[in-house]
Amino acid sequence: MTIPKTIKIGNRTVTIAFTDFTQYGEEMANVAAFYDPSEFAIEIDSNITNPDLIEECFFHELVHAVSEYVQVQKSIEDELNQADNGEIDTEESASVLEEDITDQFSKMLLTVLKENELLA
Ligand SMILES: [Zn+2]
Repeated sequence: MTIPKTIKIGNRTVTIAFTDFTQYGEEMANVAAFYDPSEFAIEIDSNITNPDLIEECFFHELVHAVSEYVQVQKSIEDELNQADNGEIDTEESASVLEEDITDQFSKMLLTVLKENELLA
């Protein structure tokens, strides 16, 4: 897989950058990559040379980015629904929420992979 410079997740453009993590010091010594939701940015440690490991890091952060996107959408929806219903059954809504999020998450992930031609 060629790691793209940007990927579209819904309306967002997420950037992917390779940076030298030694600049972050001790605190990040065991971190290979991260997703920054405030910047819509994925950073991967440029000191990693193994292509399979780079791919794994990229995909791991992509999952975080899609998950964050889906959950933000979900919480907006929930607020609107709660405002409509007045009350919610917490136990039932927890399992429905999990199925719901998994469903939305997998659809969104598939859309991202297709739109960015990452399946080719
Ligand atoms: Zn993680």
